[in-house]
Amino acid sequence: MVIKIDKEKCIGCGLCSSICKEVFAMGKDGKAMVKAQKKIPCVKEAIDNCPVSAISE
Ligand code: SF4
Repeated sequence: MVIKIDKEKCIGCGLCSSICKEVFAMGKDGKAMVKAQKKIPCVKEAIDNCPVSAISE
């Protein structure tokens, strides 16, 4: 399983990187990016809270 951000969907709200900063960061393009593939519980929390369902694993 690979954690992915759909950059077409991402609106750059920053929620995922504040919920789970070990895995998600905001890129220079203003969209979220995956900085580390870590299987930790906050990944699911970020997936569940992304307003546009842009995160998958
Ligand atoms: S929570 Fe979703 S919309 Fe917001 S920055 Fe992360 S991936 Fe993008």
